[in-house]
Amino acid sequence: MKKILITRRLLKSCEVKAEKNFDSIFNSNDELYSQKKLVELSSGCDGILSSLTDKLDSDTINKLPETVKIISNFAVGFGNIDLDTAKKRGITVTNTPDVLTDATAEIGVLLILGACRRASEGIESARAGGWKWSADYLIGKQLTGTRLGILGMGRIGQKIAKVAKSLGMIIHYHNRSKLSSDKENGAVYHDNLKDLLTQSDVLSICCPASKETVDMINKETIEYLPQGAIVTNVARGDIVDDEALIDALNRRKVYAIGLDVYKNEPNLNPGYLNHKSAFILPHLGSATKETRTAMANLAIDNIDEFFKTGNCKNKVN
Ligand code: NAP
Repeated sequence: MKKILITRRLLKSCEVKAEKNFDSIFNSNDELYSQKKLVELSSGCDGILSSLTDKLDSDTINKLPETVKIISNFAVGFGNIDLDTAKKRGITVTNTPDVLTDATAEIGVLLILGACRRASEGIESARAGGWKWSADYLIGKQLTGTRLGILGMGRIGQKIAKVAKSLGMIIHYHNRSKLSSDKENGAVYHDNLKDLLTQSDVLSICCPASKETVDMINKETIEYLPQGAIVTNVARGDIVDDEALIDALNRRKVYAIGLDVYKNEPNLNPGYLNHKSAFILPHLGSATKETRTAMANLAIDNIDEFFKTGNCKNKVN
C-alpha cells in the first residue's frame, strides 16, 4: 500500500476513502504545517495530497525525500507549487479541474452582484436597523445591459459568462487564444488586455496566477478601465496589485470591488477593510459540501491513477 501524507483535513467521507486506498498520514488538528514540518512528515511517503495553503516552493520540493513521486493538489490552481522544480525532481503534480467550476462560478457571480448592488453597505445597514428608505438610498449599478469583461475565459470564466448573459450582461473576454464559437457563446474576443479593459464596465478576473499574470491588474492597466468600473477577482490575489486597486477605489476611478482571493491571504491588505464599497469574502470559491467532496475524491483518484498507470490525466507539469 502506498504511503501518502495528507497535509490538511478532508471531509470525513473523503478521509475514509483515503484510509481505504492508502497508508494515510492525516492531520487530525488541521494545523498549517511549516515547510520544515511538511518535509519531515513526508519521510518515507510515496506521495503528498497537498492543499493551496502549502507553499511547495523550489527549496521545499528539493528537500522532499526521493520516495515522493506525486504531489496531488486539492485545488485546480497550482500557484503554490514550483512545477519546474517538481519536474526536475521527477515528481508529478496533479490538480482537480472541472469539479469545482460550478461552485466557483457561483461565487464569481456573487462578487459581481455584491459589488454592483452595494451588498456590504446593505448588510451593514440592515443589521444596524432603522435605515431611512428614500428613492436614492443605496443606489447601485444594474447588471442588465452592462458590459462584463472576463479575464481568463476558461472553465470558470465561461460558466460566469453564461449566468451573466442570462442576467442581460454583454460579455467580452481576453485569453491568449481565441475560443471556438460554441465556447464563446456570443462573447466578444479581445486579443490583448488593454482592449478588454476599455470595454469592461465590470471586470471578472478568472485566469490562473502565473509568472505572466502576476500584478496584471496594476496602476497602468487600471487606467484602461472606464471611469467608475467594478473589479472582481475570483481567481488568485497575485493577479492584482493591491495598492493600485485600493488607490483607484479611493479616487473613485473604480466604483466598487468584489474579492474572494488576496495576496498573502488570510492577511489581506488593510486598505480593503476601510472601504464601504469593498464586497469581500474569505476564499469561498469551492466551499460547498458537494464540491469539496468531489475535489478530495478526485485528488485521491489522481494518486491512484498515477500509481496504477505511471501517468494521470490531471497532470500539470
Ligand atoms: P482554466 O479552465 O484553465 O481557465 C483559465 C483561463 O485563463 C483560460 O481560458 C486561459 O486561456 C486564460 N489564461 C491563462 N493565462 C492567461 C494569460 N496570461 N492571459 C490571459 N488569459 C490567460 O482554469 P479554471 O478552472 O477556469 O480556473 C481558473 C482559476 O480560478 C484557477 O487557476 C484558480 O486559480 C482559480 N480558482 C479560484 C477558486 C476560489 O476558490 N476562488 C476556486 C477554483 C479556482 P489561454 O490559455 O488561452 O490564455
